[in-house]
Amino acid sequence: MTRSVLVTGGNRGIGLAIARELQAAGDAVAVTYRSGQPPEGLFGVKCDVTSWEDVDAAFAKIEAEQGPVEVVVANAGVTKDTLVALMSEDAFTSVIDTNLTGSFRVAKRAVKGMMKMRKGRIIFISSVVGLAGSGGQVNYAASKSGMVGMARSMARELGSRNITANVVAPGFVNTDMTAELPEKLQETIKQNIPLKRQAEPEEIAAVVRFLASDAASYITGAVIPVDGGLGMGH
Ligand code: NDP
Repeated sequence: MTRSVLVTGGNRGIGLAIARELQAAGDAVAVTYRSGQPPEGLFGVKCDVTSWEDVDAAFAKIEAEQGPVEVVVANAGVTKDTLVALMSEDAFTSVIDTNLTGSFRVAKRAVKGMMKMRKGRIIFISSVVGLAGSGGQVNYAASKSGMVGMARSMARELGSRNITANVVAPGFVNTDMTAELPEKLQETIKQNIPLKRQAEPEEIAAVVRFLASDAASYITGAVIPVDGGLGMGH
């Protein structure tokens, strides 16, 4: 049966690749977008994940269009990089509000329907830096490691309802987010990656497709690195 799927921040980058991959797998896929236009061929709902009202309204629209959400991918995220001594409180709290609290809002709203259905897959897009840390990214790393504790707590809380919660931790992926980095820094990062290259968004999407599939029915509370070996050991 066709499943109802939601990918937040699915209008570009990793989120769009995930949405297309799950659509190719046969799911009915909705994406949220915050700015611009929804991508062609996907059901798009405008939603800022920093607003509970937006998240709640987006779910209501998606439920009406394609039924209760069975697979949710919390992907929307931002960076506001700077050194800790220079980081404003707003730069810290706004990144947490989008990446961590935003993912909480989305997962919380999804769980409502999943509990009734007695099935569901919650997938959080974290980052290698959530576990390894990263100079200049105290806010971002905190938001991404917070997802691990959140997912594992949900895994414990919701396992008896046949709902899994897992984390994907990408490394250095070819999207707008990394294109902003100075070229020299991009080269240095690549040299530290055993596979010596960036990932393409589709390589992250393939793992999300697996976690959402029947093949992953016994995986919950896991953190799956997709980082070319960058974070090995965490
Ligand atoms: P992009 O910057 O390309 O896309 C970010 C997406 O998040 C956009 O769709 C954006 O919407 C959306 N978004 C941002 N803020 C909000 C908000 N407040 N409400 C709703 N949507 C929002 O990023 P990537 O595709 O590179 O990253 C996707 C995820 O993967 C992020 O969580 C990121 O942290 C994570 N990640 C990325 C890595 C990389 O190397 N690129 C590595 C590890 C993790 P809009 O278009 O409207 O701005």
